[in-house]
Amino acid sequence: MAISPNRRGRAVDYPVSEDNSPIKIANYCGVGGGTTLYAGHYPRFHPSDFRVKSLDGVGDDWPIDYRTLEPFYAENDRMTGVSGLAGDPAYPPKQPVMPPLPLGTSGQALAKGLNKLGWHWWPSDSAIATQDYEGRAKCINLGHCTSGCAQGAKASTDITYWPEAIRAGVEVRTRARVKEITVGANGMASGVIYYDADGKEIFQPAEVVIMACNGVGTPRILLNSKSAKFPNGIANSSGLVGKNLMFHPYAQIYGYFDQPMDGHRGPGDCIWSKEFYETDASRGFLRGWTFEFTRGQGPIMSGVQGSATGRIPWGAGHHNAFRKLFGHRAGMVAICEDLPEEHNTVTLDPVLKDSSGIPAPKIDYTLSENSRRMLDFAVERGSDILRAAGAYDVGFEKPLGHGGWHLMGTARMGKDPERSVVNEWGRSHDVKNLFVVDGSIFVTSAGVNPTCTIQALALYVADSIKQRLATLFD
Ligand SMILES: Cc1cc2nc3c(=O)[nH]c(=O)nc-3n(C[C@H](O)[C@H](O)[C@H](O)COP(=O)(O)OP(=O)(O)OC[C@H]3O[C@@H](n4cnc5c(N)ncnc54)[C@H](O)[C@@H]3O)c2cc1C
Repeated sequence: MAISPNRRGRAVDYPVSEDNSPIKIANYCGVGGGTTLYAGHYPRFHPSDFRVKSLDGVGDDWPIDYRTLEPFYAENDRMTGVSGLAGDPAYPPKQPVMPPLPLGTSGQALAKGLNKLGWHWWPSDSAIATQDYEGRAKCINLGHCTSGCAQGAKASTDITYWPEAIRAGVEVRTRARVKEITVGANGMASGVIYYDADGKEIFQPAEVVIMACNGVGTPRILLNSKSAKFPNGIANSSGLVGKNLMFHPYAQIYGYFDQPMDGHRGPGDCIWSKEFYETDASRGFLRGWTFEFTRGQGPIMSGVQGSATGRIPWGAGHHNAFRKLFGHRAGMVAICEDLPEEHNTVTLDPVLKDSSGIPAPKIDYTLSENSRRMLDFAVERGSDILRAAGAYDVGFEKPLGHGGWHLMGTARMGKDPERSVVNEWGRSHDVKNLFVVDGSIFVTSAGVNPTCTIQALALYVADSIKQRLATLFD
């Protein structure tokens, strides 16, 4: 299944206008959202990620810190079933709930390369079960995880949170597409208007509205919720809804080895390195990235990419070249921290609409000079690792043009209503019964995949609502 909604084009998808962005959106519309397709890389933020302005004078500090989220990270680890190894010196102490994924041949080769260079590495935290867990079977290395997990080992939210929520009485209405949030005479959200599976327009009244449509889908609906009280979209008195869009610019660095690698068999991740995570201004940019070591490719991708990069010729020699490459590749991605910039935006496209007539989101995004320098540096260091590990041929791609799968910053949290959209526990500054619990509320992006933090934040906002029930709308 295509990861781009524009290529997938199912009736339930919404198109995205993205010509003005070098990084294209990847998502999944359906129960489980993007976790249905995700790879299950599951790092937490580092404590420094919440204090970027204080430490480096860029971006902004979060109104909460690592310690605020720590119990919710732990609860989310338990709900998700996170595998990993305690003791990573890059993090405060934490205890994954089951043992890490095996390193495999490629993980061992890359770890040896890192050891030669004296650089940090550690088995990755992963949302992939290595033991039978809460009715889910353990990973048996069926293959890469981004097409969905037939074994049920990958913790997508359709098999982790949703069954629990339904058992607790939550009703899920599939193929219901929200058009706008409505506002009552008192200025509070009064409910939502959505189209059902038959295209019928339905008003659903609500005491509380909680948005979880991701960093593109949420600002789209907030901006589309125009009323006499909120002519520029609901919750938007700051003018920041849809601004400060962050992706993670990715570099992919890969190498080919004489000896066979096992990459086409296992889950995509096994170890990470935080060697270049924190700022070192002598490198020519601020902040840093995580190297996530990825295994190789299956037969089709080996063939496609081998041809595209000229490593596999057509005609004579095709099979020999394929045999030499297939099963001999290993590498990594660098997930670079993206800094918030107001000119990177999600707005409503004036022309393009989804099949219900709701305006499509329009992306305007420029790769910053800081990100360019970071990507260049990451490719050099990644190539060092591959050569130290014994690769005879090294290649790279940067930025990954199809890699807009981390969507953050477009309804940022903060204490100042002029500089943020929601407060420090996820409630709109303007509308006291409207909450946001997805990557939109990120203040900065960190140099790690976001889903573990999105889910911990959602638990934290839910807990904040529960703790404040008596005074929720004050
Ligand atoms: C190929 C791929 C690989 C990835 N790999 C990783 C990884 O390894 N690690 C990681 O941390 N993250 C990864 N991600 C990102 C991860 O999937 C997202 O961070 C995560 O799913 C975000 O969760 P969310 O609930 O905020 O948003 P989503 O998962 O996007 O869910 C949003 C939901 O809202 C629904 N929705 C949207 N608009 C409307 C509307 N108007 N009305 C009704 N419903 C609506 C959608 O149908 C969807 O179900 C990957 C993503 C992709 C696509």
